[in-house]
Amino acid sequence: ETVIVAIDGPSGTGKSSTSKAVAAKLGLSYLDTGAQYRAITWWMISNGVDVDDADAVANAAAKPDIVSGTDPARPTITVDGADAAGPIRTEEVTSKVSAVSAVPEVRALITELQRTIAKNAEGGIVVEGRDIGTTVLPDADLKIFLTASPEARAARRSGELKGVDVAATQQALIKRDAADSSRKTSPLAKADDAVEVDTTDLTLDQVIECVVTLVEE
Ligand code: C5P
Repeated sequence: ETVIVAIDGPSGTGKSSTSKAVAAKLGLSYLDTGAQYRAITWWMISNGVDVDDADAVANAAAKPDIVSGTDPARPTITVDGADAAGPIRTEEVTSKVSAVSAVPEVRALITELQRTIAKNAEGGIVVEGRDIGTTVLPDADLKIFLTASPEARAARRSGELKGVDVAATQQALIKRDAADSSRKTSPLAKADDAVEVDTTDLTLDQVIECVVTLVEE
């Protein structure tokens, strides 16, 4: 049978590391939906679209061809055939992605893409994001909502981005989460039937173990 696992939560909760590891352990596909929103944002920036102009973003939304590779051991993302894995992680993309992802036309297109990928994933898939359990895959077999204290999240993020100061990272994270949580269309939210896992005092291995156990139950 196919297993669909939705893993949502704000950034810095270990969502990506957890989702990839759980997918690998269970032999499932893996989809990073944040990478798709980053990819469309990168395309907007590269093509001179003002990301604060919601109409301009909406009008251009269908232009880029975004393709995700779903092997958890080697996830990939391309935009119009070009490798986007590096460019989507820049500070510029990170600071602009919330504005682009708040545009309903963008969400409708990316959501459709996500549902198609999930439907065609042989064996099943782990999909990580912000609105997977509430909007994209409301019938998922298991929904996880990861949380962590703001301090723990900022520390993890600064660890990933070596050399960046923790206070500044925390400010940027708080700002992005506030934007993601307050937008009108499918905001960052915990589904009523999601299992909340507070990762603040857990190691990555403990979180992975916890989610694997929940899938197998
Ligand atoms: O997960 P990541 O931090 O890479 O996500 C980048 C951004 O993409 C988020 O801050 C949010 O604006 C957007 N996003 C979203 N819905 C999702 C996944 C990500 O709006 N399901």
